[in-house]
Amino acid sequence: MRFDLLIKNGRLIDPGSGRDGHFDIAVYRGHIAAVEASIPESAAASLVDANGLLVVPGLVDLHTHVYHGATYWGIEPDPVAARTGVTTWLDVGSAGAWNIIGLRDFVVRKSRARIYAYLNISGIGLTAPTWESANLGYLDVPLAIKLADANRDFVIGIKARIDVNTVGQNGVEPLRRARRVADDVGMPLMVHIAKGPPAIEEVLPFLKSGDILTHCCTGNSMRLIDAEGRPLEAARRAQDAGVIMDIGHGAGSFDFTVAEAMLSHGMRPDVISSDIHQLSVRGPMFDLPTTLSKFLTLGMSLGEVIASATSRPAAAMGLAGQVGSLAVGANADIALFRIEQGNFSFDDVFAHTRTGAQRLVCEATYLGGRLMPRVAEPPPAPWIA
Ligand SMILES: [Zn+2]
Repeated sequence: MRFDLLIKNGRLIDPGSGRDGHFDIAVYRGHIAAVEASIPESAAASLVDANGLLVVPGLVDLHTHVYHGATYWGIEPDPVAARTGVTTWLDVGSAGAWNIIGLRDFVVRKSRARIYAYLNISGIGLTAPTWESANLGYLDVPLAIKLADANRDFVIGIKARIDVNTVGQNGVEPLRRARRVADDVGMPLMVHIAKGPPAIEEVLPFLKSGDILTHCCTGNSMRLIDAEGRPLEAARRAQDAGVIMDIGHGAGSFDFTVAEAMLSHGMRPDVISSDIHQLSVRGPMFDLPTTLSKFLTLGMSLGEVIASATSRPAAAMGLAGQVGSLAVGANADIALFRIEQGNFSFDDVFAHTRTGAQRLVCEATYLGGRLMPRVAEPPPAPWIA
């Protein structure tokens, strides 16, 4: 057998298998075919020299918005995938029962990047900037169950945004309905937190093992730390019980001081995701590699940062060993990164700046063993100032 592609001489980091070192990696028919200390050049049709580069699984972004052209927030995934190494995208809540079929027909089928979705408990999803759960008439439990069940090939969870600017006077009722849908279809629930009411203490009891709490480092009133900067006991208990703590940086949800307080008390995010959308993609979030670089700046190790954007989100999606993995047999989604050394300024969304000495820069993105071409990104949506 002759491999289709051979990537040699890089530093391979594959958190799922525990590999971190100099390995060559070979691809055959879209899958990882071999990972060895040395594979001869003659064994492959095409050769890439990754000397000086990191070779990591294609990144898995657990919080994205890709329903472009049909929702306020959506961006086109493929141009960003090519320049950032993100090969698997989880769209969380852009679509609800009334527009999930369009997400499949108009975006998932037309994109090269792998796209999965969490169904918004509100039938209108994120068509508008917000208020999708302020009208309980949009939160039809039997209909959400029907659409989630009928689209199990790419709908893998249920999303609810719980904050005062989304639910209005409805408190945790949207969350209660989302819980019922998730339990009925046997899928995990992702809950977004921001500014209450409701209070975070009212939200956490709804979450179970395998569910995801996104915006876990929000600086808004539903934050997971107390006035002294200590993680809330209820938040720790939730994480200990298997609730996945996800960053979801976005344009309003990442506070360096909250992240620092949590890390200093030994509470670590399980997953680092971007919450990339029309407002965050032009900064200060920018993209997933920039978000990962912020956590290097906060002192997380390179290996843990890579795990937080590969094997861990893949496991949260039930796709361990298929994506976010360089194990033999996995999809040949591979990203090459350079670690740029220098003096880099990073901003959160609460007007804090931190300076870091390292930045992750994507050099190439392979999806199913094929290089994703770099293409121009479309301009902002007309409603973005
Ligand atoms: Zn989001």
